[in-house]
Amino acid sequence: MHPSAKHPEKYRKNKNKTPVASWLDYDFFTEERKAIKSLTVILRTVGCQWRKCTMCGYWHESADVTQADILTQLEHSLRNSPDERFILKIFTSGSFLDEREISSETRKEIAAMVKKGKIKKLIVETRPEFINAKKIEDLKVVEHLELAIGLETANDFIRSKYINKGFSFGDYKTAAKIVNECEATVKTYLLLKPPFISEKKAIEDVIKSAALVSSYSSIISLNLCNVQKYTTLENLWRKKYYRPPWLWSAVEALKEIKKRDENVAVMSDPVGAGHIRGPHNCGKCDPEITEAIKKFNITQNLSVLERREEMDCECKEVWHVLLKFDDFLFGSNLANQIHNSYNDYSANSRR
Ligand SMILES: [Zn+2]
Repeated sequence: MHPSAKHPEKYRKNKNKTPVASWLDYDFFTEERKAIKSLTVILRTVGCQWRKCTMCGYWHESADVTQADILTQLEHSLRNSPDERFILKIFTSGSFLDEREISSETRKEIAAMVKKGKIKKLIVETRPEFINAKKIEDLKVVEHLELAIGLETANDFIRSKYINKGFSFGDYKTAAKIVNECEATVKTYLLLKPPFISEKKAIEDVIKSAALVSSYSSIISLNLCNVQKYTTLENLWRKKYYRPPWLWSAVEALKEIKKRDENVAVMSDPVGAGHIRGPHNCGKCDPEITEAIKKFNITQNLSVLERREEMDCECKEVWHVLLKFDDFLFGSNLANQIHNSYNDYSANSRR
């Protein structure tokens, strides 16, 4: 019997006092253009209040936590802080600056905790509508403060119709200007391959979006769309109306964005790479390509993605064909059929 079944009340309370996850890693520190240690903490809060994005199921990690629980969770995670100065990323699977999730008192207490640690840079995530100068000032307790915004795309049509994000590119720009005026930096998340658009259009959209956000952002991070549970996207995927992006597409987008603007730091955390619900190629080359992307993230060195022999596989030709016929197919279902028959083929060959 699971302990939660025996003592449901106790289990719920313990769960509320521990973060969803926390881990150590390396991150590219843009200010010094090198990789340093980072601690990522995903706090459990009441969760995102918007909850309407087609691809997002993160709010299922939410719980009925108190503000005291949130502080306990962070204390718990900070015990794993590295010895040297590091980047601290505090995420909530929602908006750190939404006071329904993190109250202004809690925000200030978190700032005091952060101030005591050996933290070079603090990164928090938020929707743009919650950003104002006062809240940013509260968090300016470290040398570098960064606000991460999930814009997903600079294209208002794609963002509103296909993602249902509920804010405009204009809202993002207004918020980003406030952040920059407060001498903090912006990290912009772009979504590679929202539902309803073809592989090729998805690549073009992130490249175009990157050009439009680079003047506001110190980092552009490509989120490779993955199929989360209990989402609209999951429904589409089950009906075979959606295939997550190819890793080749991620590589292509990263290379192109970097080539067009060498000064921009562009990266992509390949969450769920190689899995059927995550970004994937044929199954054979996925680990190698994922490694290359991770290496590129912390080096920003284009040659990592351009190594001919390592960055090749027979499935690359299938991906090329897919892009080649896009103009004839207008992203129609036939393209999905090609994807899916190839998927079935590669899934079977993996077994
Ligand atoms: Zn392959």
